[in-house]
This record gives sequence, C-alpha cells and structure tokens, in this order.
Amino acid sequence: MLKSVNPVLAKNVSVLGATGTIGLHTLDVITQHPNRFKVFALTANTNVKGLFALCVSYAPRYAVMLHATAANELATQLKAIGSSTVVLHGEESLCYVASHEEVDTVMAAIVGAAGLHPAMAAAKAGKRILLANKETLVMAGNLFMQAVSDGGATLLPIDSEHNAIFQVMPRQRSEQLSQIGVKRVILTASGGPFRNASLDELKAVTRAQALNHPNWVMGPKITVDSASLMNKGLEVIEAHWLFNALPNQIDVVVHPQSVIHSMVEYIDGSVLAQLGNPDMRTPIAYGLGYPERLSSGVSSLDLLTTSRLDFSAPDLERFPCLRIAYDALNLGGTAPAILNAANEVAVAAFLAEQIGFMDIPCMIETVLLAASIEQVESIAQLVAVDAMARQHASDWLSVHA
Ligand code: NDP
Ligand code: MG
Repeated sequence: MLKSVNPVLAKNVSVLGATGTIGLHTLDVITQHPNRFKVFALTANTNVKGLFALCVSYAPRYAVMLHATAANELATQLKAIGSSTVVLHGEESLCYVASHEEVDTVMAAIVGAAGLHPAMAAAKAGKRILLANKETLVMAGNLFMQAVSDGGATLLPIDSEHNAIFQVMPRQRSEQLSQIGVKRVILTASGGPFRNASLDELKAVTRAQALNHPNWVMGPKITVDSASLMNKGLEVIEAHWLFNALPNQIDVVVHPQSVIHSMVEYIDGSVLAQLGNPDMRTPIAYGLGYPERLSSGVSSLDLLTTSRLDFSAPDLERFPCLRIAYDALNLGGTAPAILNAANEVAVAAFLAEQIGFMDIPCMIETVLLAASIEQVESIAQLVAVDAMARQHASDWLSVHA
C-alpha cells in the first residue's frame, strides 16, 4: 500500500493499538501521505486477524501482540506469505517499539491503563507522541508530563477536545493560565445517546443502546464512557495536566452537534473555538503534520446543513460520573488513578451485562470513597494503586452483580 516511500524524508511511525478505531484512522491518514510517513511498528492485544491484514498492507519492521500465543499465531501466518515483519510480544516489546531509536512518532492509541507504560517509554525517549490514550494522563499526569519534559518529547493531544484547545491556545506554556491571558477552557460534550433520557430510563439502558453513539465511531470502552459522561470527566483531568488548568478553569458544555470541538476563553472576553466535522482524522493529521497542516480526507464542514449549534449545561444528577471525576481531580494524588481503574472494571462489567448502566457511577464512587489517597511518587506505586482499586471494584461486583 505504501508505495514509493522516500526513506530519507519519511518519518518512522509506531502505531500502538493499530487495530483499534484510532489506530485504523491513523493508518488511513498515513496512507494519504506515503512520502512523509513509514509504518515502523504496529501493535494489538488479541486481534491476530486484524494485525495480520495490517502487516500485509503496511509491511512494518515490527508487529507486537500482547500475548505470546497470539504472537506465535501471527508469526506463523506472516512467515507463510514470506513477510519480513518481526513479531514480538509482551509489554516490554510495546515499550521497545515506542522508544526505538529509529522511531520519530508514536501514536499512543491503546485503550485503558494498558497504554501507560508504552506512552511513558515514548516520553522518556523524546519521541513525538500523539496521545489518544487519555488514561495515561488520568492515572499519571504529573509523572507523564515530567517525563515528556525530561525526555524532550513533543506531546500532541489527539483527543478532539484537547486537540481543539491546543490549536487555539497560545504556544507559550506557563504555570498559570492567567499568565498567558487565558481565563478558562470549555470542553464540549455531545451528551451521548442518553442526553435526554430520564433517570428511570437510564437505569434500564442496554449494552446495545450504550454502544450506539450519535456522532462518533469509537471503541467500546470510550463509547460507554461517552454515554455515562465519564469520558468528559476523564477529559477534564486530561485538560488539567495538558494545559495547567485548575479544576475551576475547566468547564463542560453539552453541544449535541459535535461541531465545535472545544474552546478557550481569554481574559479580554474573546472565545476561540475549533470547528470541524466529527472525524478523528482531523486531530490525527494535525498531530502527524504539526506544525504543518496535512490533508486528512475529512470532508468540509457544511455550516448551512449544520444550520444551528445548541448548548446546555451537563446534568450531574443523571450523569454523576462527571461530578465524580471532578471530585477525583480535586482530591488529587492517586484519586484519579483509582477513579480510572474502577471505571475500567465497571465498564467491562456493564459490557458483560453483569451490572446496569447506573451501577457504573455507584461502583466507582464506592471504590473512590473507600480508598486512602496518597501523593503520587512513582509509576510502580500507581500500578499497585490501580491493582488495588480493581480488586475493590471486583469485590463490589461480587456482592452486587
Ligand atoms: P479500540 O477499542 O477501538 O482499540 C484499542 C486498541 O488497543 C486495539 O488495537 C486493541 O487491540 C489494543 N489493546 C486493547 N487492550 C490492550 C492491552 N491490554 N495491551 C495492548 N493493546 C491493547 O479503542 P479506540 O481506538 O476507540 O481508543 C483508543 C484510545 O484512544 C482510548 O484511550 C480512547 O479513550 C482514546 N480516544 C479514542 C477516540 C476515538 O474516537 N475512538 C477519541 C479520543 C480518544 P485488539 O484489537 O487486539 O483488541
Ligand atoms: Mg474526546
């Protein structure tokens, strides 16, 4: 697929989570710019079939599966067609392809806490990191931002809201937003499929209904997070670390059309927004090309068809996950890591149809309130905190599911 690559100019890209929604969108944009990018490594968890097809199309130097059995299966299939792609497995191999000296750019698009170690490896190695894996910042925001700074990495947010804010934020960084003339950031939220549902209706929603997002096509975990507004809560924490924004400088507004991807309000009253069709190829192309602009394949925004833009305040009673995420941010320390771990367990249980939709916030809040919050000191500590929170969440499940 990638024909006539100029090996001197082309940037080597490792796509972590290549078989996922963001991974595939990234490869779509890369395919449109064969002279600029070369796929160095592709990774997946269990999807051998998907990664095999991508290896055939992109002929990466490395392919990484999380587990040995899946890697062996992939290696056998690739060998049978004479592929020269080297197949590796395990978390260390994910870190290896994220930090390899020949890699320029890393798309961090693994879902969940599993993305933390490879993203840290890319940061320490000074890569250009296209960060989709928001859980890295939620769990380990201070350590990750420190690693980016110490490693000399370039961090480009891919989450559409943060990418929008990045695009309209002043380039200079500061410890305080007011020093660069910014009053607050305003994250837009589509409101998800249950925006207008009553509390009783929310209690009865099914897995299939939650997976049916009105505006975005995404992996199952983030789709459920979007329906519960936990996604917006995680994004509030993400914005805190990316932009040095205090909790009271981060507002959320429900905007069902998903045309304004987020906004920055300046102290003089100016509000700058980034608009576009809801298609992740725009932030991905921005991250790949920065500071240049690259075409992405996204169609032009037709304002006449859009015709109106609506806004409303989020309802924290029907969507308590957003409030709980603000609580975790205000608690600080290990609280966001606990929130994230409990949420991952809750979403998996909801997707397995073990608990109801409104059990998600209930379980997370129980785990968060029961935990003792510590200062964040190390990744090892966070890994232990994550495991403990998952255990507490599983205990809750064994009683309530
Ligand atoms: P998907 O579920 O579609 O894809 C996840 C990818 O991660 C797959 O390649 C999967 O492999 C891999 N993976 C899953 N678990 C592990 C693991 N334990 N170890 C290694 N790899 C693993 O997710 P999305 O692409 O939707 O989202 C990816 C990240 O980007 C998330 O953090 C999400 O919050 C964020 N994001 C996504 C957006 C979107 O529009 N989709 C928007 C903004 C942010 P396999 O296929 O084998 O399971
Ligand atoms: Mg987002």
